[in-house]
Amino acid sequence: MQHVAVVGGGIVGLAVAHELAAERGVSVTVLEKETAWAAHQTGHNSGVIHAGLYYKPGSHKARMAVAGNRSMVRFAEENGVPVEVCGKLVVATEPDELPRLQVLAERAEANGVPAKRIEAAEAREYEPEVNCLAALRVETTGIVDYGAVCQALVRRLGELGAELRTGAEVLGVRGRGGRVELATPGGIVRADALVNCAGLHSDRIARLAGLRPAARIVPFRGEYYELRHDRRHLVRGLIYPVPDPTLPFLGVHLTRMIDGSVHAGPNAVLALRREGYRWRDVSLRDLAEVARFPGSWRLARKYARTGVDEVLRSFSQRRFAASLARLVPAVRQEDLVRAEAGVRAQAMLPDGSLVDDFLFEMGPRQVHVLNAPSPAATASLEIARHVADRVMDVL
Ligand SMILES: Cc1cc2nc3c(=O)[nH]c(=O)nc-3n(C[C@H](O)[C@H](O)[C@H](O)COP(=O)(O)OP(=O)(O)OC[C@H]3O[C@@H](n4cnc5c(N)ncnc54)[C@H](O)[C@@H]3O)c2cc1C
Repeated sequence: MQHVAVVGGGIVGLAVAHELAAERGVSVTVLEKETAWAAHQTGHNSGVIHAGLYYKPGSHKARMAVAGNRSMVRFAEENGVPVEVCGKLVVATEPDELPRLQVLAERAEANGVPAKRIEAAEAREYEPEVNCLAALRVETTGIVDYGAVCQALVRRLGELGAELRTGAEVLGVRGRGGRVELATPGGIVRADALVNCAGLHSDRIARLAGLRPAARIVPFRGEYYELRHDRRHLVRGLIYPVPDPTLPFLGVHLTRMIDGSVHAGPNAVLALRREGYRWRDVSLRDLAEVARFPGSWRLARKYARTGVDEVLRSFSQRRFAASLARLVPAVRQEDLVRAEAGVRAQAMLPDGSLVDDFLFEMGPRQVHVLNAPSPAATASLEIARHVADRVMDVL
């Protein structure tokens, strides 16, 4: 039996391992450097099962989000993971957002996502506190705890006889005798192929394995607040702004989580460490790498104004509340309580552009996932199918 080592125990690594073990008759070892599964992006996100309306038609993101929306809901239902398909509103609050709402509606249609344009009065039937001129109602958006999905994947992998190792950081990779050897603190792991799903460190693992990927990971922290318990009633489901097409992220939104809490955020600021959840988390190595990469400076110039605004909002709860009040005017500064932040792994090219689509690269007996930002949690079971196909090609 062929044996595959998967680096990274986030939702993408665990989904890939599950697909290989359950559907492709391959034995797998998952190597995760932390002592728990889903410790980084997967355990610090908005918990939204996206519908797939935002993404460029025909892209991996569009196809895999739309299919992933269905497969994730099914997986959760079949494995006893609480899930709710609550739908969402994308709201235009300014007249200049109305044409962009229309563009979004057309994109949704091109991607096969049911989305209905509604007027403000109808939007308030869904969300009585919302402020908008018009909205898109998307019925298929859902919510789930991706950490709980990972626990279910781990359980199933255990039943399939997979070897699951936490506290197993991959420190080196080399090819030897037609196989792959991975150095970990616990010793060498040998496999017939390697799959790199290391998220914030995926470019580093690729370089350790001998690839020279053009893209580098830039860590963008997303900070959240939570609505105070007695103010949760202000939001019933999910309320998003119309995204600015010139910016890479969706804009701060209000999200009901599966546990009933309401999260507000995330913003986007450059993290000063790959796993920098606070401003005081700084790594000189990570910063030096960012500074040496030509794309960083080009990106900084391109988004200078937005970057400054995001940093100001990071330090000012008043500004954060003001952004949310555009969506729900009743939200006040005193309604917000700081919640845990997340850090996005976003690939950037030397020309300063951010890689929009999911990015995969192959090496000898290697498959690397080099860009899996949102909606990769939604799409994880579909990414897993795609990666498993590539693994079968390289084995
Ligand atoms: C703030 C935020 C909000 C988001 N909201 C959503 C959302 O609502 N819906 C959605 O679909 N997506 C969302 N996303 C995106 C989603 O969370 C990610 O796309 C997804 O979790 C990526 O999973 P992953 O397995 O690739 O990465 P990760 O979860 O980061 O897993 C990578 C793992 O690799 C491990 N690792 C790294 N280096 C090594 C090494 N050398 N050896 C061994 N292990 C290693 C890490 O410890 C980590 O556990 C959000 C992301 C963020 C940050």
